[in-house]
Amino acid sequence: MTVPLWRRSSLLADIHTDTAVIGAGIAGLSVALFLQDKRIPAVILERHAVGSGASTRNAGYLMRGAADNYALAARHHGRRLASVLWRWTEQNLALLRTRGVASIPSYAARPSCLLALEPTEAEELAESHRLLTADGFDAALLESHTDAAWRTKTARLGLLNPDDACVNPHDLLNFLRAQVHVPIYEHQEVAEIHAHREDRVTIRTTDATVHCRRAIVCVNAYAPLLLPNFDALVRPNRGQMLALHATHQDIPLDFNYYANRGSEYFRRADHDTIVLGGKRTTDEAAERTFDDRHTPRIQSNLEAFAKDLFGTLPPVKARWAGTMGFTPDHLPLLGPVPNHHNAVWFLGGFTGHGMSLAHRCAKAAVDQLLGEPPTANPFPLARLIKP
Ligand SMILES: Cc1cc2nc3c(=O)[nH]c(=O)nc-3n(C[C@H](O)[C@H](O)[C@H](O)COP(=O)(O)OP(=O)(O)OC[C@H]3O[C@@H](n4cnc5c(N)ncnc54)[C@H](O)[C@@H]3O)c2cc1C
Repeated sequence: MTVPLWRRSSLLADIHTDTAVIGAGIAGLSVALFLQDKRIPAVILERHAVGSGASTRNAGYLMRGAADNYALAARHHGRRLASVLWRWTEQNLALLRTRGVASIPSYAARPSCLLALEPTEAEELAESHRLLTADGFDAALLESHTDAAWRTKTARLGLLNPDDACVNPHDLLNFLRAQVHVPIYEHQEVAEIHAHREDRVTIRTTDATVHCRRAIVCVNAYAPLLLPNFDALVRPNRGQMLALHATHQDIPLDFNYYANRGSEYFRRADHDTIVLGGKRTTDEAAERTFDDRHTPRIQSNLEAFAKDLFGTLPPVKARWAGTMGFTPDHLPLLGPVPNHHNAVWFLGGFTGHGMSLAHRCAKAAVDQLLGEPPTANPFPLARLIKP
């Protein structure tokens, strides 16, 4: 979206701060918390309301790893970077726990299980297990199990992350928001960012002009709508989900499952609800959109997946969608936005894994903004675009 001249006002007048955080999803709230820890004055600018993006529309997995399994990640990014990425997701959960998220009633410490439904992925998981163990990660292989994911004998092999967790993501956002004491301006869409020099930035929002030393843009999938040349860096990808009415007796699930190399995922949300998502790759072109409506095609593919796997399709309780931001190499992006005097930074492009990564990345973003050496950033924006 954009803000027409007619809608712009000075209702909020001029706002002066040190750092402006743009976007109030898990990334923006996390950046604000780490700035607050360091006593840096900040404000958050959000175009709708806190958590209105992907951060409350997801499956709530706080899991180790990323879109690829470890063997594929090591092949794509190199073993060292894959290992850093895996450690950062572990640290993400540890940092969230330090903030007290384990006290949220919907939080559950529960292993994730990567599930191979065909032989090639089973080989990858066996290889992942070998590499993970060699690199010092705790992991276990599962050849069979008694819960409903294995009921129809489609499952061939499971790889367990023993120390993962899950949470209702809306609860998580509310929990973090309650700890943020810097001003949050909702319904303030950022229309323009102007960096005058390395410590002077002006931001125009719907009802205010914000004057700050620096800004950090945490709008994830929506980055191409705000930042020049970001179309090639962050692409919107819709993710769709549904919730099924099923008790533990109907469909027992002991783990948070992640199947078909992460394309599909399902877990128990509460005593009579299972959430299930994915099937984006069955209509890939149509799913590259900012539109967060769910579609009959993907929803019926999700229903078919549930029926094949569980042998039954319980009643559907809810359907929804959200927009993820994918990067070309599926790694997050952190660094200065080119041509903005090093005063405007970007953090995002979590490629479907922001709940498991953004808090750790936000810590790195704040450390970098405050002058940590660039070597402390394994995911520099500069790898994809000239600074
Ligand atoms: C269906 C689905 C399932 C998923 N499952 C998981 C999972 O189980 N585990 C996991 O780790 N990840 C999961 N993800 C991914 C995860 O939700 C995202 O990676 C994460 O929420 C990104 O957080 P964010 O704060 O960067 O972006 P968002 O939550 O999208 O927040 C961006 C914010 O910026 C605001 N904004 C945009 N433009 C402007 C502007 N111009 N001015 C001001 N504000 C603006 C938006 O309104 C929004 O609130 C899933 C995603 C989807 C869609």
